[in-house]
Amino acid sequence: MAKMLINGESVDSVTGQTYEVRNPANGDVVDAVPKGNADDARAAIDAAAAAFDSWAHTSAEERAKLLFKSSELVNANRKELAEVLTREQGKPLLEADTEIEHFLHGLEFYAGLASKVRGAQVPLPAKNAYGMVIRKPLGVCGAIVPWNFPITLMGTKVGPALAAGNTVVVKPASTTPLCSIRIIELMNQAGLPKGVLNIITGPGGVVGEELLKNPKIRRIAFTGESSTGKHVAEVACADFKRVTLELGGSDPMIVCDDADVQKALSGAMVGRFWNAGQACLAVKRLYVFETLFDEFVSGLVSKVARYDVGDGMTKPEKPKIRMGPLHTAAQREEIESQVADAVSRGARVVLGGSRPEGQQYEKGFYYNPTILVDVPDDARAVTEETFGPLLPIFKVSSLDEAIDRANGSIYGLGSSIWTKNIDTIDTAVDRIQAGNVWVNSLHYGYDELPFGGVKASGFGREHGPEALDYYLEPKGVVITR
Ligand code: NDP
Repeated sequence: MAKMLINGESVDSVTGQTYEVRNPANGDVVDAVPKGNADDARAAIDAAAAAFDSWAHTSAEERAKLLFKSSELVNANRKELAEVLTREQGKPLLEADTEIEHFLHGLEFYAGLASKVRGAQVPLPAKNAYGMVIRKPLGVCGAIVPWNFPITLMGTKVGPALAAGNTVVVKPASTTPLCSIRIIELMNQAGLPKGVLNIITGPGGVVGEELLKNPKIRRIAFTGESSTGKHVAEVACADFKRVTLELGGSDPMIVCDDADVQKALSGAMVGRFWNAGQACLAVKRLYVFETLFDEFVSGLVSKVARYDVGDGMTKPEKPKIRMGPLHTAAQREEIESQVADAVSRGARVVLGGSRPEGQQYEKGFYYNPTILVDVPDDARAVTEETFGPLLPIFKVSSLDEAIDRANGSIYGLGSSIWTKNIDTIDTAVDRIQAGNVWVNSLHYGYDELPFGGVKASGFGREHGPEALDYYLEPKGVVITR
């Protein structure tokens, strides 16, 4: 059985209670983990608080060395980790491995930045005096992570937090704790001092809630649903914690009449159906210029038909590509109800719209990749986040119309525009309400650029050197000679 890791020790919950983690592909039990409670969370927070002063005063070079060493050890166990991730999450092995790769890239990116943090010297009006801005770590950080990219999104929090000299308590999603636990164990084995990096498991409303409320936690980095994010903000901000919220999205993709159609088709396919569509920055609304519309829809339908739904541990015969199950039964029901709602309002299903049939699918949460057209703007597939393999495609007649409709969402996470016209690019980059705009590409990059949302997609940024700003507090100092 997997255990929590608190103060460098693998431990059970104080209650001795456990719960099972099940494989979304077949319902099998993958392993069991402790069902932690608020006392367990407090033990982890206390350990992280006790470790803080010494870690904050460890040289940046030394912290970087330990992060690089952690990365090496995680990389040495990459195959085993990807398999665990596939079993608990459902994603195909290739995608699981890509996730580990992103995690490693992030650790090394922030390890490299640890010794490059700069402050400032500031001239002052007073005679014989000058000011300095020094940057101090905040203390104990709570990292609350969802199930769709459990490892990448843990890395985007743990990397900058540790590089900046903070200590961390990780709370993985209840359904995906196993690969995260294994990684935290490896990072501790790599030499992180006791208490610097801890992981606790158990219900979000119990152990997560303790992170939000406990006064020893000074920073919450949360990724998850917008509704949970609202609660996180209410509770954690009330205790004056520093909070960043990476929340839901409904990313628009705009394909103009001068776009490179083949590239845009590949972008739409991978952008929507990677991770069975369970991505915050997936393409969730596709706006295509009317001159291209019919060609684009039929091109996309034939491309997406290459997906073969099945267990992520297996590979289909080429040219088929594996798409795993949805992560939970509730997730699949949500997509089904969004499709049914769209159809009841006049939408047409041009691909999928059903569960795959056959005995091999009965125990998993499988759903066929689905494409809809003629979806009205008030359908739930437009107004809500669609967190699964469902893509509505809309016809637009101008750039203005495309941008207005793209912006007609409560969300503002990612977006993309496909065109060769520099004026169009400039207008789109300027006007689309989103934290990121990709032009002729859905290459999200790994850690180089800041990433985050506007509107109901949250606030604050992960990735990039900018992320360090959320883990270091500027302190003004006046020196008088
Ligand atoms: P949830 O909001 O349900 O859960 C996220 C995390 O919060 C889990 O670890 C959960 O624990 C925990 N949690 C739940 N309740 C509380 C609470 N009261 N206090 C503290 N923690 C709590 O999100 P999902 O796991 O369903 O993730 C999917 C969502 O994440 C989607 O909306 C997606 O768009 C968004 N997301 C955003 C990204 C971004 O960068 N903007 C990236 C990826 C996903 P438990 O599992 O135990 O309930």
